[in-house]
Amino acid sequence: MFPAKLNELNLDIKENVSLASFTTFQIGGVCPCLITCKTSDEVSQVVRILREDDILFIFMGGGSNLLVSDDGIDCVVVRYLSPASQIELKGNDLKVGASTLIDDLVCFAAAKGLAGLNYCSGIPGTVGGAIVGNAGAFGKQIGDVLVSAELLDKEGNLKEVVNEDLAFQYRGSALKTSYDIVLSVTFRLGPANKEQLFDERKEILNLRHVKHPDYKEHPCAGSFFRNIAKTSDAGQRQAAGWFLDKAGAKDLKVGGAGVYKKHANIIINENKATAQDVYSLSRKMAARVKQEFDLDLVREVLCVGYIEGAEEDSASIVW
Ligand SMILES: Cc1cc2nc3c(=O)[nH]c(=O)nc-3n(C[C@H](O)[C@H](O)[C@H](O)COP(=O)(O)OP(=O)(O)OC[C@H]3O[C@@H](n4cnc5c(N)ncnc54)[C@H](O)[C@@H]3O)c2cc1C
Repeated sequence: MFPAKLNELNLDIKENVSLASFTTFQIGGVCPCLITCKTSDEVSQVVRILREDDILFIFMGGGSNLLVSDDGIDCVVVRYLSPASQIELKGNDLKVGASTLIDDLVCFAAAKGLAGLNYCSGIPGTVGGAIVGNAGAFGKQIGDVLVSAELLDKEGNLKEVVNEDLAFQYRGSALKTSYDIVLSVTFRLGPANKEQLFDERKEILNLRHVKHPDYKEHPCAGSFFRNIAKTSDAGQRQAAGWFLDKAGAKDLKVGGAGVYKKHANIIINENKATAQDVYSLSRKMAARVKQEFDLDLVREVLCVGYIEGAEEDSASIVW
C-alpha cells in the first residue's frame, strides 16, 4: 500500500487501523494506513514521498473536529500530532510546531508569563487544527495573536505567510480552501503576571467543566453546529445551543447518539454510536430549529468519508 521509502523514516505507521481510536468522538471505520508525524521535517518528507508516488491522503491533527464514516476511508491518513511540545521562545514571540497540543501551548505561555492564548485553555487538538478553524472561546480566537505561519503547499513548496494572508474569520481561515499544511506558527504575546494567568486558566477550565463534557468520558467533537451570524450590527453571534435548547433538542436521540444534557449543541457518543447515528441526530436537531425559529444551522464538525445524507468534507481535503 505505501512506498518502502516511508519505512526508512522510522515513523509510527499503522496499517488497517480503526480511526475510532484517533478521534474524540471515538467513531470511525478503518483506513488502510495511518502515519503519525511529530515534526515538520517528518511531515514534509512523508508528503513528498506520497506525492511522488501519487498516493492520495488526508490530513488530520487531534481528530477533535471530525466525524469519520463507519465505512472508514479508503486512503492514507497523515496525522500531525506530538505529545511533546515543539516550542521555541524568542522574546515575547513563540515559534510553535503545529503538531503541538493547543492546551500544552497555553500552559507553556502562562509559565513564561505571556498573555494572549489563555482563552484556548482546555480546547482539545493541535495548534495546526486550531489555526485552520481559527479556534477560540469567549469571543477571542487564535488568529488574533498569529504573526506568521510556515506552510507546505500541494506542490511540496514551503512558504511563509503573514496573518493577513490567512484571512481569519469566525471558525475559519483561507486554509479551509487552500488545504495547505501548517508546519509551524509564530505567535506574538504580551507580558503578564504568571500567577494571574494560571488563576484565569483555572477559572476557564472550571467554566468549561460546568458546561462542556470531558470527551474522554463522553466522546464528542465539541459544538456540532456553528453559532448563528449576528442579526444586527449591534448584535453578536448567537449561540446555536440556545436555539437548540429552546427547540427541545436535548431530548432527541438516534441509536447510541444523544445530546449532552448541559449543552444542546454537543452531540455525544453515549453508547457505541455510529457516525450515521450522529449525523441523523444532527439532522433532527437542525429540523427542530428550522421548525421553531426558521433558522438553518450550519455544521461545524467535518464529515470524513461516506455518511448517508452528509456532504462529504473530506472529498475536498484529499491530497
Ligand atoms: C470537548 C471539546 C470541546 C471543544 N471546544 C472548542 C472550543 O471551545 N472552541 C473551538 O474553536 N473548538 C472547540 N472544539 C473543537 C476542536 O477541538 C477544534 O476545532 C480543534 O482546533 C481541532 O483541532 P484538531 O487538531 O483536533 O483538528 P482535526 O479535527 O484533526 O482536523 C480538523 C481540520 O483541520 C485540518 N488540519 C489539522 N491539522 C492541520 C495542519 N497542521 N495543517 C493543515 N490542516 C490541518 C484537518 O485536515 C481538518 O480539515 C472542541 C472539541 C471538543 C471535543
